[in-house]
Amino acid sequence: MKIYNTLTKKKEEFVPIEPGKVRMYVCGPTVYNLIHIGNARPMIFFDTVRRYFEHKNYQVNYVSNFTDVDDKIIKKAQEEGVDSSVISQRYIAECKKDMEGMNIRPATTHPLATQEIDGMIEMISQLIDKGYAYVVEDGTVYFRVRKFAGYGKLSGKNLDDLRSGNRSLLVTGEDQKEDPMDFVLWKPKKEGEPYWESPWCQGRPGWHIECSVMSKKYLGEQIDIHGGGEDLVFPHHENEIAQSEAASGKEFAHYWMHNAFLNIDNKKMSKSLGNFFTVRDISEKYDLQVLRFFMLSAHYRSPLNFSADLMEAAGNGLERIRNAAERLRELEQTGTDGAMTEEQKAAADAFVEKFDAAMDDDFNTADAIAAVFELVRYANTQAAAGMGREYAAYLSKTLVTLCDILGIETEQKEELLDADIEALIEERQAARKAKNFARADEIRNQLAAKGILLEDTREGVKWRKA
Ligand code: AMP
Ligand code: ZN
Repeated sequence: MKIYNTLTKKKEEFVPIEPGKVRMYVCGPTVYNLIHIGNARPMIFFDTVRRYFEHKNYQVNYVSNFTDVDDKIIKKAQEEGVDSSVISQRYIAECKKDMEGMNIRPATTHPLATQEIDGMIEMISQLIDKGYAYVVEDGTVYFRVRKFAGYGKLSGKNLDDLRSGNRSLLVTGEDQKEDPMDFVLWKPKKEGEPYWESPWCQGRPGWHIECSVMSKKYLGEQIDIHGGGEDLVFPHHENEIAQSEAASGKEFAHYWMHNAFLNIDNKKMSKSLGNFFTVRDISEKYDLQVLRFFMLSAHYRSPLNFSADLMEAAGNGLERIRNAAERLRELEQTGTDGAMTEEQKAAADAFVEKFDAAMDDDFNTADAIAAVFELVRYANTQAAAGMGREYAAYLSKTLVTLCDILGIETEQKEELLDADIEALIEERQAARKAKNFARADEIRNQLAAKGILLEDTREGVKWRKA
């Protein structure tokens, strides 16, 4: 399996640290709002990477954080007059709902920055002890960039060039820094902000230290893959390398993988530019599986422009796959007798080989999808010519396996009709009257699993879609 490594700028053969296991860390979102479909690109892509490794029988330890302490979260909390944890908890829950809609499996662990402060204080102390960090008068702790010889190795940036571009920083209030490129590990609280006790001041961690600490805690000092969007290469990932490698003295991540941007009108989709659609917006118009299919239709290192036309094409493609899957399921029941021949099996397996070859080549999902379409075309031709039940079952299983690696469901999730919902609510009311609370809870949960929320009001039970 070959992976393009941002660190070496080459495709390299994947060799895990521990045979049969993959340790993978992907930087997650800052939770102050609903996620937009640009944020969804790394989520969908790295979920697919994980699924492919599992298909190849690797055991994957997949860690992806939620950044739940940050200026933007604090600002939103102040606007709403609530604690910042109210904001972060709300948007973590919403993000998980969106992930489920996009068929993104929960990571092995989703750590929260605010739950890992002790580890951060420990790593910062260690960096100070080793001379890689220093404390200034107001209690801010900075990383001493010039002490770390490998600084710039991921982004290819040169410290002197960076410095000349950043002179202005020295005169804009950060003048306690030894060097304009030094970055914050810990900073003092401001009035009204959440804070933690530390040896340096009451304050909070910088953003970069979070990932170094969470990655170390859940995956160990050395990991196989570290991923995220390409905007994270510098400074975030460069700084993570500096912190982690300065602390451990070992190479941090072997393979650095970065997805290109999801664009709109050829500009990066982002909250700050205001040119974004949330995943929730899209879910009102499309099945989120279509969004997933659209994202995977391009190679992850190519920019992808969002457009209604491309979404429509993705929707049509997905439908073609689902129709073929449906036809094969029917033929499993109604097909002719007779065993699958060796030639037939080999013909079906050839599509899997093609799919795997594409995925082995730096996760080329575009070519992998082309292999799925070839299988669909082949299955349709075979079906038209009449097919045995055994072969239909084999082709069906093959198609489902490949779609599953892409996180694409071949059967559309059945939507509950309003009438079904009302009937279940009535049954729940009857169960409660009869004091059968177990059944009543079961119905509530069954509805919740389909995104239907119940609210008991004085006028009776009201329901709404989550
Ligand atoms: P943020 O919440 O901005 O820290 O972003 C969370 C993740 O989404 C990071 O891996 C970003 O690189 C990624 N990301 C943000 N915007 C885009 C975009 N337009 N296209 C692709 N990835 C993005
Ligand atoms: Zn990170």
